[in-house]
Amino acid sequence: MQTKDSTYYMNREDRFGAHNYHPLPVVLERGQGVFVWDVEGKKYYDFLAAYSAVNQGHCHPKIVNALIEQAQKLALTSRAYYNNVLGEWEEYTTRLFGYDKMLPMNSGAEAVETALKLTRKWAYKVKGIPQNQAKIVVCNGNFHGRTITIVSMSSDPDAYSDYGPFTPGFINTPYNDLEALENALKQPDVAGFLVEPIQAEAGVYLPEDGYLKKAADLCKKHNALFVADEVQTGLARTGKMLACDHENVRPDILILGKAISGGLYPVSCVLADDKIMLTIKPGEHGSTYGGNPIAAKVAIRALEVLQEEKLADNATKIGELFRSEMSAVKSELIQQVRGKGLLNAIVIKPTKGKTAWDVCLAMKENGILAKPTHENIIRFTPPLIITQDEMLDAIKRIKKTFAELE
Ligand code: PLP
Repeated sequence: MQTKDSTYYMNREDRFGAHNYHPLPVVLERGQGVFVWDVEGKKYYDFLAAYSAVNQGHCHPKIVNALIEQAQKLALTSRAYYNNVLGEWEEYTTRLFGYDKMLPMNSGAEAVETALKLTRKWAYKVKGIPQNQAKIVVCNGNFHGRTITIVSMSSDPDAYSDYGPFTPGFINTPYNDLEALENALKQPDVAGFLVEPIQAEAGVYLPEDGYLKKAADLCKKHNALFVADEVQTGLARTGKMLACDHENVRPDILILGKAISGGLYPVSCVLADDKIMLTIKPGEHGSTYGGNPIAAKVAIRALEVLQEEKLADNATKIGELFRSEMSAVKSELIQQVRGKGLLNAIVIKPTKGKTAWDVCLAMKENGILAKPTHENIIRFTPPLIITQDEMLDAIKRIKKTFAELE
């Protein structure tokens, strides 16, 4: 009988699973806090944290308990009936973020789709745009998920190639370009502007200070909705509850996902005020699992943990430590260190013939798991519960890796 080592598990996934990902060659079987362990028992710092879904740390005991308790009581009702916890989640979340209403979904992509539908509904029902004419302005370099409509807005050939015909109704503009944004907003029948406060997936691109505020003001001026996709930037990752909070911007539509469940369950939601949210009537949108009792309890607990453990403040403090330490490293491989809070990236200079993938493989040997995003950028996004000592230890390992590769 074959022993079940990492190779066994990797081969089995390759043999029976679709090849739509290119994982690091590590097979994980356990996680706790900032750490994960592979099937051989080797321990790693998780510096991806499931693309910022695990902000609260792996298997946070309070969130795990919420999941277990609710799973033993009532897991799924569908929205054909009321359940006694969805309203609790809706009340909690709308109060926390200051909106009239919340609409629950499961994945980030579904929440983005929901926001697009809401923006269009509002355009026809409130703004008075002629039927089928509504346009939504989006940014080059965006990443909002993987559905046909979402990849229709993408400027990344990996995301959209061979998936046409595409959904019409989007105007692409450069990111961080207010003049281009205003030109787009001046076009007829524009319903809204969808934007990531920081383009995380594209490689952690930060706009200039003031961009979000000015973009939101431009939307107001042109009667278009400002729609913020905070699926990755939100929930304490950048040092505030929302990345938009850094500029005191309140989006007309706010999209949340990932860390709203602390990595325990697929949960997402969209927040908006009545004048937008109530344009969608019964039967016009939904999801069988969206708003299920487990999701509701898990999300409340995950949001509580972010606040109780002051994870936004920790992200600010530990993020500064990471950037200051890594910026000081003298390595021919490091072109730039950038980020906000604990959403950071190191841009790799390919001068030594080493790619970001090579650096990630070498970091793995030193107990750090991180993943390249695009060719030459490595994202560093550990769980926000990471302590100063843990970060200093991780930095030591990352520095050692760069030294070994020189
Ligand atoms: N929006 C942003 C900004 C994201 O980063 C992601 C995923 O990385 C999504 C949407 C899609 O979320 P999901 O993978 O849960 O569909």
